[in-house]
Amino acid sequence: MPSRTKKLPTTKSISTIYDGLSTYYGPVSWEPRYDGISELIFTVLTQHTSDRNAERAFQRLVDYFRIARSHDWMKVLEATVEQIEPLIRSGGLSNIKAKRIKDILLQLFQKYDSFDLSFLAELPLSEAKRKLNELPGVGPKTTAVVLSFAFGMPAFPVDTHIHRVTKRLGLITKQTSADQAHDKLEKMIEPQLVFPMHVYLITHGRQLCKARKPLCHACPIETQCPSSTHIVKN
Ligand code: SF4
Repeated sequence: MPSRTKKLPTTKSISTIYDGLSTYYGPVSWEPRYDGISELIFTVLTQHTSDRNAERAFQRLVDYFRIARSHDWMKVLEATVEQIEPLIRSGGLSNIKAKRIKDILLQLFQKYDSFDLSFLAELPLSEAKRKLNELPGVGPKTTAVVLSFAFGMPAFPVDTHIHRVTKRLGLITKQTSADQAHDKLEKMIEPQLVFPMHVYLITHGRQLCKARKPLCHACPIETQCPSSTHIVKN
């Protein structure tokens, strides 16, 4: 993809990008998707698969063990990997994920004697992140998803779409990994705009700034983008 003159991102350019995307995609409101522990287990199931596959796996798990409140996850902790694995097979890597889910539940129960994660919302963001990151198989993306989607905290999850779009926009360098991008992007965005910006960038990556053929001619932030392929004819 041809590159225009490279500019460092500024607060002004980020707010211009935000304005362009919010005008194009419309208002975004936050409400919790699941409680904290359910969001954490669901997000583990989304690792290396689509949300759709993960939703099917999560629903089977919840239905089978009749999970209605955080303490019910004890039934999954008490189950064997062999019992859990077939229930979550649609989410892929089911043996690894079944063991990971049990390891997470065990560590939570040993540390906090509970699966209720609502205490995280009372902590400073960095402390809440540290506590989740300590859990087995829980990296920066899973941490940011749980804090953002379950508790409305200003953590910025970076998935494959956001990683690609923000690189094209020059908000991060081509060398910045997805794991490094969480903190970098989070610091650039006003806390109250972190969640809608996450939603806008992911939607933009799915609808217009596609991996193979970005639809730059239709892009509402094309003038802000150093990677645009749109050629204006005189
Ligand atoms: S101009 Fe093209 S590459 Fe840049 S953000 Fe828009 S769709 Fe993506």
